[in-house]
Amino acid sequence: MALIVQKFGGSSVKDAEHLRNVADIVTGTYKNGNDVVVVVSAQGDTTDDLIDKAKEINRNPSKREMDQLLTAGEQISASLLAMTIEDLGYPVVSLLGWQAGFSTSTAYGSARIKRVNPERIKAELSKRNIVVVTGFQGVNKYDDMTTLGRGGSDTSAVAIAASMHADLCQIYTDVDGVYTADPRKIPAARKLDVISYDEMLELATLGAQVLNNRSVEMAKKYHIELEVLSSLTRAKGTIVKEATNVEKMLISGVAKDENVARISVIGVPDKPGLAFRIFSKLAQKNVNVDIILQSIGRNGTKDISFTVEKDKMDATIELMQSYVETIGASSVVFDDDVAKVSIVGAGMESHPGVASDMFEALFEANVNIQMISTSEIKISVLIKKEDANKAVAAIHAKFFEQIGQ
Ligand code: ADP
Ligand code: ASP
Ligand code: MG
Repeated sequence: MALIVQKFGGSSVKDAEHLRNVADIVTGTYKNGNDVVVVVSAQGDTTDDLIDKAKEINRNPSKREMDQLLTAGEQISASLLAMTIEDLGYPVVSLLGWQAGFSTSTAYGSARIKRVNPERIKAELSKRNIVVVTGFQGVNKYDDMTTLGRGGSDTSAVAIAASMHADLCQIYTDVDGVYTADPRKIPAARKLDVISYDEMLELATLGAQVLNNRSVEMAKKYHIELEVLSSLTRAKGTIVKEATNVEKMLISGVAKDENVARISVIGVPDKPGLAFRIFSKLAQKNVNVDIILQSIGRNGTKDISFTVEKDKMDATIELMQSYVETIGASSVVFDDDVAKVSIVGAGMESHPGVASDMFEALFEANVNIQMISTSEIKISVLIKKEDANKAVAAIHAKFFEQIGQ
């Protein structure tokens, strides 16, 4: 007998028929003698719909009230799934985040899980109940409900698996695994049998939404093997685990992120300490900076450009504008009509030709590169947003669709 955590995303629980399908998977696992903890997301587009509803009423609602609202989405799907399982004749109980022992930080809208106390879940399992838990939520030290940030149910599932030392953590979704690119956009994308935590973390951070990046970070930290699989096809999925040398792929995938904006501070005096002053200012305000580019100094000045998440753009421009005079720069310009396209692969470390192949693919597709950043296992380029799909297709074709591969 094993302890199995199964997480189902919004599309897997979107209506009664899908809930019935999920109930079949869950009860099938239970019937085989396993303890089953199920984590669910809100049904279909419920979270987006709730956000729209709130914005109709108040353009700028408080984050606390938003969390009060959004946590309702998961409450609905958890109780409905429990009723579906009940209807099949199995013992089941649904629990909200606080009932399931999720303590989080106070940051409404992007809370971090501090601790999971699984006592209640254990007590229910010992009564041979199937336990359904709401993903994406917890409770903070003020006894307020919090949410974990979009896509956060994956992290809820991994946190339960870690706190209970589960034998298996399955992430069921609407595709049957992790692919070399988004299979909905790139029909030639290939399913990966296995991918390392590090590569999956990069792909998730760089835009492959199939797993939330925090969930991968946590899985790596607590050595939880994940399986990403479809709730509809029952095909074997993709295993996310610690890498072994044998499995090192040259490139494991291509990802696209449109949630990005470029900011440039123009005419910064060309002397030591100014980059430090700009970026420490941003760090103080919790703005995550990604790609950074500094031009060569000419006539005593240089330009410093960097990318930030789109929703941090306005605050960053304001911050930089208020700072331009202090540092003696001339202006701040921005562009949010950009996208970041990246390749990820643990094998690129030891293969020098990868960057040139990527840039050749972009050249052949007539895509201009604005900025480049690299690490040991990834290369990212910033390009015009309208070129993004074409760029992903060209890069994917170069690395995965050549004859003989
Ligand atoms: P869920 O609601 O189950 O959490 P998500 O919509 O968050 O599902 O994630 C699944 C989606 O991720 C897929 O429908 C797919 O379009 C997208 N996706 C993006 N990149 C990839 C990739 N490399 N492999 C698989 N799916 C990907
Ligand atoms: N329902 C939440 C969202 O849409 C959490 C999740 O789906 O993981 O972001
Ligand atoms: Mg998701």
